[in-house]
Amino acid sequence: MIVDIHTHVFDPKTDFSPQLHADLLRCGIDPSVWGDVKGDHLKNTLAADVSVVFGLQASATGWHVPNEEVAAHVAKARHRLLFFASIDPMQPDCLEELEKCHFELGAVGVKMAPLYQNVYPTDSRCYPIYRYCVKYNLPILFHTGTSFTANVPLDYSRPIHFDAVAVDFPDLCMVLAHLGHPWEGETISVIRRHANVYADISALYTRPWQFYNSMRLVTEYRADHKLLFGSDAPFTTTEGSLDGIRGVNAVIGKSGLPPIPEEVIEGIINRDTLNLLGLPNPKLR
Ligand SMILES: [Zn+2]
Repeated sequence: MIVDIHTHVFDPKTDFSPQLHADLLRCGIDPSVWGDVKGDHLKNTLAADVSVVFGLQASATGWHVPNEEVAAHVAKARHRLLFFASIDPMQPDCLEELEKCHFELGAVGVKMAPLYQNVYPTDSRCYPIYRYCVKYNLPILFHTGTSFTANVPLDYSRPIHFDAVAVDFPDLCMVLAHLGHPWEGETISVIRRHANVYADISALYTRPWQFYNSMRLVTEYRADHKLLFGSDAPFTTTEGSLDGIRGVNAVIGKSGLPPIPEEVIEGIINRDTLNLLGLPNPKLR
């Protein structure tokens, strides 16, 4: 079974603030290239058996993707989509939002993004969310690594901060997205020492040399069993990501550099992600 742990739905016209549009423009990113994000999501994720879907709530950087709309989208394909609620620890009612998403909208996990939310993952305002997730066995997928947004300290996104969270919450199941690029080594050092901390490799194949080096590093540390497959749709598609990941060795050509072993690549793609994260199998509901 192929599980895509990282896919988005949003509408840039209604869900992005003017500031966020300005950040995208400054970095040369045109939202129209993503097409009809929600309309195309079902097609873009068809190559996975199961896909996790989330929006983003991050008032500090202008993301306002309503959890209700993500849940309504998931309801269109309940046999293969799982809903993660995006929770912004900077909102005073964030626990109420989490309870609503969990009990009324069917959320089976949480998405957080400390960089976009302008908060350290170790901030005390995040801890009630972590306690709730431990109590109800909800995994949290965190954005980690760099981004195009300005006006917020990049340090919030450093993988090393999640090490401290894992020490305080050893039972909290966490996924560090994008292998924390460009701090992949730091992420590997965190995931290999905590039983319940994983990382996804979403969107990394689009930088072939960096992706190859990250995969070598994770292989040499023998931490590849902690990596999960993800696409980051709509920024890629599930099918395009599978092709890109399977093509990781193309960049070394005939250089003699050591390839990424096929069993490492297929191990990530076919990882038993639902069981590892304690997620329900939507095909059985
Ligand atoms: Zn993403």
